[in-house]
Amino acid sequence: MSAQPNLVVVGSIGIDTIETPHEKQPDILGGSASYACAASSLFSRTGMVGVVGTDFPDLHRQVWGAMDIDLSGVQTVEGETFKWHGVYEANMDNRSTISTELGVFADFSPVLPGEYRKAPYLFLGNIAPELQLHVLEQMDDPKFVLVDTMDLWINIAREALEKVVAKVTMLTLNESEARLLTGEQTLLAAAKHLLKMGPEYVLIKKGESGSMLFTHKNIFMLHAYPLESFKDPTGAGDAFAGGFIGKLAEFDELSPVAIRQAMAYGSVVASFGVEEFSLGRLTGIEREDIENRYAEFVEMSRIS
Ligand code: AMP
Repeated sequence: MSAQPNLVVVGSIGIDTIETPHEKQPDILGGSASYACAASSLFSRTGMVGVVGTDFPDLHRQVWGAMDIDLSGVQTVEGETFKWHGVYEANMDNRSTISTELGVFADFSPVLPGEYRKAPYLFLGNIAPELQLHVLEQMDDPKFVLVDTMDLWINIAREALEKVVAKVTMLTLNESEARLLTGEQTLLAAAKHLLKMGPEYVLIKKGESGSMLFTHKNIFMLHAYPLESFKDPTGAGDAFAGGFIGKLAEFDELSPVAIRQAMAYGSVVASFGVEEFSLGRLTGIEREDIENRYAEFVEMSRIS
């Protein structure tokens, strides 16, 4: 029997249709929880919390199973699985949502299996902040809670989002979301504003430009691992966050060095993730691939 999860991840589970300037991939496995769990499970035993409909293909479930993700927190409910259709512009940076069908996600009420509640690490992936709160309330006493969000929730559920942010250890969001949530212009001003809202750490994602970590005492910057080409940036932020917290849970240490190294591992995992659509690349990597790219990445970032 596999060990109990020491990391719990909640988020969306979706069937995505993705169009890039080069390719269209219909009905592929996606969702914030799916990408984050695939990434975190490379380092730590992960329990997934989410919902799928009765139409959810067994093949997708087997993908997670092969990564040894604990699925006892995934509910299957009569109805259709969440579906999302996105199209990338020529630069692969901007994308538009063509459609979102909530399906069973609309009435989702996450219930954590008993053995998840004791987990020391929790990732509240991108879903409605009310649901993130509901999950947080079911946990015994996690020692590190990371929360992600998106512009949609900042616009329509700001109050609930502020409640979540006040209760977590680390908030992660992208540059434009940090500006939207705070009204500040520079990232430093936005980070200071966000730190005042409660978290000990604010991690701002900057896409291909990497990420910045802010605490009350210092700032740490990391470029993204440079790729010559990639296929699909969907879920890169989730894979980064999942890889980060999965590695942190493996270290089981919250020192500044452990946090910085975990960020670098998250970046490495995200770089693999975008090389293929869906979880295509994340399911195929070995620990050795990660360590090799990590060593290369550390060398690239070294100043002295
Ligand atoms: P990202 O590229 O990090 O924005 O994550 C993309 C994933 O988010 C896709 O696989 C979608 O299934 C999922 N997604 C799209 N819209 C939403 C939403 N409103 N809430 C939760 N997940 C979403």
